[in-house]
Amino acid sequence: LTILAIESSCDETSAAVIQNGKVLNNIVATQSVHEQYGGVVPELASRAHQQHIVPVIDQALSGAKIHKQQLNAVAFTQGPGLLGALLVGSSFAKSLASALNIPLIGVNHMQAHILAHFIDDPKPKFPFLCLTVSGGHTQIVKVNDYLEMEILGETQDDAVGEAFDKIAKIIGLPYPGGPMIDQYAKEGNPHAFGFPETEMQGFNYSFSGIKTAVLYFLQRETKKDENFVKNHLHDICASVQHRLIATLLQKLRKASKHTGIKEIAIAGGVSANSYLRKTLADEGRNLEWQVYIPKFEYCTDNAAMIAMTAHFKYLQNDFLGMDASPQPRMKFSV
Ligand code: ATP
Ligand code: MG
Ligand code: FE
Repeated sequence: LTILAIESSCDETSAAVIQNGKVLNNIVATQSVHEQYGGVVPELASRAHQQHIVPVIDQALSGAKIHKQQLNAVAFTQGPGLLGALLVGSSFAKSLASALNIPLIGVNHMQAHILAHFIDDPKPKFPFLCLTVSGGHTQIVKVNDYLEMEILGETQDDAVGEAFDKIAKIIGLPYPGGPMIDQYAKEGNPHAFGFPETEMQGFNYSFSGIKTAVLYFLQRETKKDENFVKNHLHDICASVQHRLIATLLQKLRKASKHTGIKEIAIAGGVSANSYLRKTLADEGRNLEWQVYIPKFEYCTDNAAMIAMTAHFKYLQNDFLGMDASPQPRMKFSV
């Protein structure tokens, strides 16, 4: 069973080939055009996908030593994501599937972030909890089976990755700032500065308040010392990061206690954060959690996770018609 998968929901153009559940190749082209604008510009993202998609797919197939004629299905990210970006991947996938006369599979990007855990060992056992933390989402998901998931709680405003990036912008770091906060924080004191936490119901999150708190704090301090940010960069980053990660873990602990589930996974771009990875590993030892942390390359957007999800969907004969279209606000199909 050999499947080609395409990811084009945001600013990464990626293609992967999976054979009998084993990823043979995963090519990711990251778009750098957005850096100068401090965020992803949808029109430019579509154009870059259009430029990258053919070479990326060719490279994925040739590196895997797979010929188009050997494919059993073509999969693509159907949503959620930017409409114009999704259209590039979906149009290509539909054309290829129809030319080869093989099934078409539509994949939910957030479900795929979670199923990235099944690419390599060790694999979580069902049911497990997955903290999905990315640029557009922050969710605690109860995963009952490969394709059976329920959202226990999620952010009511900004995603945690968005909070990292927006705060990085306030500090004066280039986009995307999340990884840079992680870097600077390594030499900083996480308890140097305290930022308030927004209390939320149940297992929900809110990350828009801390952004404003950091903005006012820095404005106030800069009035007293114009070099405040420069002189305290490491401590500011470490303190911001500590607040964000501590909030994430607090609700995760609550969800684990509530459900009695001790199989705990993280997924999405922010799971590349070194402080989250370390804190979760420490926490796991204390609470006797079995913790699953994906490889770096499978944390941020990639087609390998789309291919993994497509593999499970193929086994359930879950195919799309040729009239399928992208769903920018796609929810989990349980
Ligand atoms: P979604 O998956 O919700 O559609 P997305 O695809 O844009 O959103 P990802 O590519 O999964 O999100 O993740 C990107 C986000 O991860 C960015 O906000 C980025 O700043 C953040 N990120 C990546 N590495 C780190 C890190 N080391 N520390 C903190 N944040 C990070
Ligand atoms: Mg991205
Ligand atoms: Fe993503």
